Amino acid sequence: MTSPIVRFAPSPTGRLHVGNVRTALINWLFAKGQGGKFILRIDDTDVERSTKENEDALKVDLEWLGLVWADTFNQSDRFAQYDAAAEKLRGMGLLYPCYETADELDRKRKIALSRGRPPVYDRAALSLTDDEKAKLEAEGRQPHWRFKLSGERVEWNDLVRGPQSIDTSSLSDPILIREDGSYLYTLPSVVDDIEAGITHVVRGEDHVTNSGAQIEIFKALGGTAPDMAHTPLLIGADGQGLSKRLGSLSMGELRAQGYEPMSICSLLAKIGTSDNVEARESLDQLAAEFDFSKIGRSPARFDEAELKGLNASILHALPFDAVKDRLAAVDPRAADEAFWTVVRENCSLLPEVGAWVDTVFGDITPLVDDEDKDFVATAATLLPEGELTGETWSQWTNAVKAETGRKGRGLFMTLRKALTGQEHGPDMGAILPLIGRERALKRLGG
Ligand code: GLU
Repeated sequence: MTSPIVRFAPSPTGRLHVGNVRTALINWLFAKGQGGKFILRIDDTDVERSTKENEDALKVDLEWLGLVWADTFNQSDRFAQYDAAAEKLRGMGLLYPCYETADELDRKRKIALSRGRPPVYDRAALSLTDDEKAKLEAEGRQPHWRFKLSGERVEWNDLVRGPQSIDTSSLSDPILIREDGSYLYTLPSVVDDIEAGITHVVRGEDHVTNSGAQIEIFKALGGTAPDMAHTPLLIGADGQGLSKRLGSLSMGELRAQGYEPMSICSLLAKIGTSDNVEARESLDQLAAEFDFSKIGRSPARFDEAELKGLNASILHALPFDAVKDRLAAVDPRAADEAFWTVVRENCSLLPEVGAWVDTVFGDITPLVDDEDKDFVATAATLLPEGELTGETWSQWTNAVKAETGRKGRGLFMTLRKALTGQEHGPDMGAILPLIGRERALKRLGG
């Protein structure tokens, strides 16, 4: 196979969310794994709803995820090319003007449905004479323009869905240009895919029907249609369609919560595939493992709890140097290698280290039950001399056990609660040297 060229084509009408990031990622991994090229196309033909702010934000999000592009362009810079393509289709008799208003079309649909017929556009406009058209325009009607489908079957072998066959006689001729002259996504996308030499169109399965019409437009404009891959959509953990919250779970939000890009990429690359859902350290690794044949036909389940689990496992392996600056941003005292190595095991998200900063370095309220007061005071007197090390905890608890006869939970949990003010937390042997002698004795009431 020659090197693939793929594109991710978001509309900058909102922030990137988990659904469209998955599409971007699959395109990226495929290109990377095959030594191909990943292009970022900004679908901003809808000038009303597209904003520069959204465009900038989605670029920041993609870079943060590591999904860098070889090339990018905006559709809004290319209206001349779309006009030329439209002219070519008109010349071929494949783009025709229609004058029905939205209300009239709606009425036609309802009538068709009430007669048990599919609500397909009846092509009435095709039989308008030039005089009739001129009259309608003189009344102030502006036409919208439809592409004339062949009425034949369009077939392709989808890389995810297998053999596909769409009967274009069952579809309405798609509107390519609205009556205000603006383009719907259908034609510009094909024009750009031809010009950029796109070899594979990879997108969500909500575009399958579009593909039927677009393949005919590719052919009409003299191009060969690219290979196609339509991936099943995401669903939530409850098996229902993505909830409103999840559907709009933006990258900005996940980043603000402290998620690692690789946990998001690992999850989105693996769900809905035959691979196990496991964290990977790099996009290169995910790319090496990527194959369209691994993507199943049923929806991919996106579970935030699973994302958090992957995030924790990535965090537990992250070296201090990789997180130093982010730790400092949480709390300057957290930017300490020994501290990071000890507390990361107890964090699912990096900002959670903040909760352990005071436990280690600050003032806490020791948890000492009344009946444990004497025991804790005795333990304080047995703390080994000198600097506290990784051995101190076991030497000390052995000494306390020998002296007081306490063991198990009564020994270990009581000291943990006194020293950290909590019942859970990092390994005491590791955290005790960080707490240090002075703070430890103070917490033990010594
Ligand atoms: N802008 C379109 C969308 O976001 C692109 C679809 C495609 O990849 O062709 O749905």
